This record gives sequence, structure tokens and C-alpha cells, in this order.
Amino acid sequence: MTIQSQTSTPMQAALADAIQDYIEANPKSHVQHSKAAEVLPGGNTRTVLYSNPFPITLTSAKGCYVTSLDGKTYIDYLGEFTAGLYGHSHPVLRESIEVALNSGWVRGGHIEQEEELARLICNRFPSIELIRFANSGTEANLYAISVARAISGKKKIMVFEGGYHGGVFVFSGSAPSPITAPFDFVLAPYNDWEATLALLEQNREDLACILIEPMQGSGGCIPASVDFLRALQAWAEKNDTLFILDEVMTSRMSGGGLQEVYGLKPDLTTLGKYIGGGFSFGAFGGRKDIMDCFNPSQPNYISHAGTFNNNIFTMSAGVAGYGKVFTPQAAQDLSRRGEKLRSRLNKLAEKESFPMQFTGVGSLMNVHMYSGEIKSIKDSNRGNMDLRNLFYFDMLKEGIWAARRGMLNLSLPMGDVEFEQLANAVACFIDKRKGIVT
Ligand code: PMP
Repeated sequence: MTIQSQTSTPMQAALADAIQDYIEANPKSHVQHSKAAEVLPGGNTRTVLYSNPFPITLTSAKGCYVTSLDGKTYIDYLGEFTAGLYGHSHPVLRESIEVALNSGWVRGGHIEQEEELARLICNRFPSIELIRFANSGTEANLYAISVARAISGKKKIMVFEGGYHGGVFVFSGSAPSPITAPFDFVLAPYNDWEATLALLEQNREDLACILIEPMQGSGGCIPASVDFLRALQAWAEKNDTLFILDEVMTSRMSGGGLQEVYGLKPDLTTLGKYIGGGFSFGAFGGRKDIMDCFNPSQPNYISHAGTFNNNIFTMSAGVAGYGKVFTPQAAQDLSRRGEKLRSRLNKLAEKESFPMQFTGVGSLMNVHMYSGEIKSIKDSNRGNMDLRNLFYFDMLKEGIWAARRGMLNLSLPMGDVEFEQLANAVACFIDKRKGIVT
């Protein structure tokens, strides 16, 4: 495969060269992708991992490093889109998984670890009085929305432009996805209270819930303003609408998630990612009076099934990780280190007046090739996408494994060595590419 240089700008020429280098550096991944494409559409079973011209295949991972089929080792700044918080071989998690392995799995009965994990989470999130487990963040949001509709008898759900709540709840694309779950969504502009209030009032009688990420993760690590979130919560309370906070990504920001940092008390919270210790995980929980509708010892309870809801690997690794490793103190420390690193990277761009910034909160960030204020996905879309693509290929060359869309996430095993390497890679990128930025 050779990239033809039908290029017109220095930026496009640089991108074509970077892609050519990538192709030459990853021949085994290229072959693997061709094989995969015979049995998986586009060689892919998880859209977000696809990358033009073909994705790199990973063969192993250790600590905060991943190694490719082509034999290159990268610092893992993707961190499995936040599910990889613990890194890849944490000894405490490993031990809990070995105990589970030795005790037998797929038991088809209650296990002690489900109570332990539920208690750990309830103790850390005062708004979560009762919780139920699922297998993914998507599922958690599906149940949270469904229960809001079931108990309120109302049909509409407010979500936000740029939001992401799972594979069938994508609101970040340029056009609505044809496989969006068939609910009656009201799409509001993120961080724009006046326009959102108008929509709330217009739909006052019909809104079962408001579902929002306190920081849009997939939308580019764009935080909501605290005032915006508090205004939404207050409106919801006054108007008998449930306020659901999607903390699938942001629960790592403190001992009790971003809701603790921002002083929020949602009616329901959805969780996922790293809390399952690296295994499939989702959870939704909140007010006792709402969650009690799932109590099967009560008449007229609502059924919530799921073969793997309490699978022993997720529950065991979850208990070990959340209970012994990712303590509230560890959460605070990681957030502090992330803020420091993000500010360091932003200073590199500012110093050179390079049109790039890293937005985010705590240990999660996303690069945008844009210098203006970013309060919504619309602002982010003003950035230079060719430059962002170039960033991806340049980072790979420097041994940084990041998301194609520019997301960078910290994990617990990372230290100064890894931060230094990222800062150097970003400084090199600015230096190498400043001549082609107009
Ligand atoms: N909500 C948010 C905020 C997410 O970031 C994600 C996953 N990126 C989900 C929900 C869906 O989680 P899952 O991929 O486990 O279905």
C-alpha cells in the first residue's frame, strides 16, 4: 500500500508522509487486519479502535505499556478509554482473579463479592443508596433511562450535543446515528443554560429524565460548568424529572466521582469502565425509593436480568481494585498529577503560540488543534483535523499510544518517566510541525 501524494498543502503532504511511515513500520498489523477483514466488517468489532489505513494489533501489555504485533512497545496513554486505570498487571488485582479462577466461575448463584463491591461503591457515593450491576456502561444507561420512564410514566429524555452514553446513545456525530436506541430524545446544547432552559420549559410535562456527563469524555474531554450542572439538577428537582449523572468515565476524579467535587446529588448515577478491574462492567444506582422498584421480594417489582451481572471476575477484581488500590486518596493524587501534566502540555503550546490545547479534568484529557475557548463539541470541531491526525501518527512514532481522536488518559502505574516522555513528544511535535501550521 502506498499513499499517493495528490497533496496540495504542506499539512496534507506531511500527513501523507506520516501515514506512509506508519504503513512501513507496521507490516504484521497490516496483514492481520487483512485477515480480520475476511470475517469482521472492516476487520473491526469495536468502531472506536478502527484507524485508517489499518489499526495496529496489540499482542501484550504490562504495567502502563502495550506491545504491538510489529514488536514496538508504547506507553499506554489510551488506558482502554479509561477502563485501564489500574494498568495491565496489577498484582493485587491479579491475586483476586487467581482466587476467582481457583474457586470456579459461572456458578449461577449469588456470590459474596457482589455485596462487597456494592457496599464499596455505596459508601463512596452518598447519592447511591442502592446499586445494580450490568455488563457495560451502555447497559447501565439503558436501564437508568428505562427506569426513569417506567416510574414517571413520562417518555422524553434530555441529552446533550457531544454526549456519549454508549454504542446506541451517541450524540457526538455530525449526524444522528441510525442505530440510536429508539427513545424520544430532546437534544440540548451543552453548557448553554439559556437555550437548554428553553427546551426544558418546552418539554416540561414530558421529560422523564435529564442524562448528562459532567465532563463529556468521548466528545473531547469537555467539562460542564458547575453552574450548568447545578441549574439542571435544580430544574429537575422542581419539575419532577430525574437527574441522571453519567459518571462512567468521571467516577475516577475523586473518591466519589465528579459529583463529589462539584457538590451534586443526582437521583441516579451510571458507572462503568475501570470499576470492574478491567473486566466487563456497568452499574446504575441512586435513590433507594427509585432503585427499590427492582426488589424482587416486593409485589410488582421490575425485573432486571443479565447472565453476567455478578460474574465473579468482574466482582472480584472490582472489590480488590476499588477497595485496596484506588482509594479516595489514590483518586485525588491521580487527579492532581493529571492536572499538573495537562497544564505542562498546555504551556508548551502557549509558549510557541501553537494552535493546540489539552482540555479535561484530572487524569483525563483530549487534544484539540484550536486555541479559542472550548465549551462544546461545536467549538472543538473548529480545530484543524489534519493536524490532529498528524498528532496521532507523530505520537505513535514517539512511542505514545493514544486515541486517534486525541484522548490521553493516565493510569496508576504511570510516573515521571512516562510524563516526561509525553511532554518531550509533544514538544517535538510542536517544533516539527509549527512550520506547516498557518
Ligand atoms: N458513558 C460514557 C460517559 C462513556 O464514556 C462510555 C464508554 N466510552 C459509556 C457510557 C459506554 O460504556 P461501555 O463502552 O462500557 O458500554
